[in-house]
Amino acid sequence: MKTKQLSWALLVDHAATAWQPYYVAFVWVSIAWVSAVFLWSVILEVYAVKGALHAACHLVWGVWLLVNICYHYYQAVHLAPGYTSDLDLQVLKDAMTFEWRWCGTCNRPKPPLCHHCSMCGRCVLRMDHHCPFTANCVGAADYRHFFLFTLWLTLGCAYTSITSCMWHGKRFTDSSSTLAGAPCNPAGVCCHWGGVLRAGSAAGVALLGGN
Ligand SMILES: [Zn+2]
Ligand SMILES: [Zn+2]
Repeated sequence: MKTKQLSWALLVDHAATAWQPYYVAFVWVSIAWVSAVFLWSVILEVYAVKGALHAACHLVWGVWLLVNICYHYYQAVHLAPGYTSDLDLQVLKDAMTFEWRWCGTCNRPKPPLCHHCSMCGRCVLRMDHHCPFTANCVGAADYRHFFLFTLWLTLGCAYTSITSCMWHGKRFTDSSSTLAGAPCNPAGVCCHWGGVLRAGSAAGVALLGGN
């Protein structure tokens, strides 16, 4: 029975590991999509109605949010979280106290708060959790980037959602808009609200703790 449970756990781990690159690609595509929708729904419209200065202010703040989101996401994906296998075995053994445990899989000591991740296949220092959306563990070395990614993502999603909702309707109703009186393009409207929905849900996910 225990062997059966173990093989199921291994199967789930393998399947989850195989899907991780697609989750990461999904996040990058979502960021690109929301940025494009923001440019179309907000920046171009603010430029047409309020002028270049207003549009430039929105653009600078939007780009600042985007740079921070991309930088911290890239680091959260690519930075090693703090594997014990990257540390010198003798240094670990010398530092070992009675509180430390031993990982039979890595054949190395486990300091307090260190856990073996079955997805990474290694022990991670101060392991928080394994995030499928970064295809990486959140541990001692990359916790800061993961936290800042979720923080900037929440700010970015809230900003794009609110400004898109404020400005999208004006495209078709405001007499000074470039699209005043124009019929709504269903594909464009779906694309817009898909982006807003995605930004809103990403903000919710980020607020709830990353995944
Ligand atoms: Zn281990
Ligand atoms: Zn992991």
